[in-house]
Amino acid sequence: MSSNVVVAIDGPSGSGKSSTSRGVADRLGLRYLDTGAMFRAMTWWMLEHDVDVHDAAAVAAQAQKPDIVSGTDPLAPTITVDGTDVAEAIRGEDVTGSVSPVSAVPEVRERLLALQREVIGDGAIVVEGRDIGSVVWPQAEVKLYLTADPAARAMRRAAEEGGSDLAATEQSLLARDRIDSGRAAAPLVMADGAHHIDTTPYTLEEVINQVVALVSAARGDA
Ligand code: C5P
Repeated sequence: MSSNVVVAIDGPSGSGKSSTSRGVADRLGLRYLDTGAMFRAMTWWMLEHDVDVHDAAAVAAQAQKPDIVSGTDPLAPTITVDGTDVAEAIRGEDVTGSVSPVSAVPEVRERLLALQREVIGDGAIVVEGRDIGSVVWPQAEVKLYLTADPAARAMRRAAEEGGSDLAATEQSLLARDRIDSGRAAAPLVMADGAHHIDTTPYTLEEVINQVVALVSAARGDA
């Protein structure tokens, strides 16, 4: 198999997807795409333009407007909207609290699906999200579905966000899971042919090693 491999990594937030995806891409010299950041960037634009994120028709009507550009270096991923660097802004509570309803709008998904497929192009990339192995790139050579216990996920997410309230973080994660898994358009599911890894008992390094081994096996490396 060529080096144009596509590695699809799906799962809920806090399952270790981002750190694992970046680590695997760095180890294997692949590019990296964070599709969650694209949904967050879309949500940031809607909030900036006073679009009611709970009004699906209003969100759908604007979905073509934002110009979202993702940089794919795993050591320094970037994201801009209409030329503005939003890497930090999209991690704020306002965006996190509004991203799931925006992501459930089919017109948003269609727009970002086209952008995601354009970035994936000829491959050589690790792509993380919720529907990469099921919808965006079902032909991916390696598909992973990462999960972790809710308490472990909340602890990781709170550490990333600078030690906020653990119970509140867990509640917010579970609320997003419910919307992401229950929506009609491209819900969070384990894709056909995906390897499931529960990351709870493993260190990041251990999970990266497992994924690198799966990619090497799929590529037929010695
Ligand atoms: O991965 P992250 O937590 O940053 O994703 C933010 C939100 O974007 C998710 O809660 C989900 O609503 C949405 N998302 C999605 N499909 C993807 C990636 C993210 O719907 N492929």
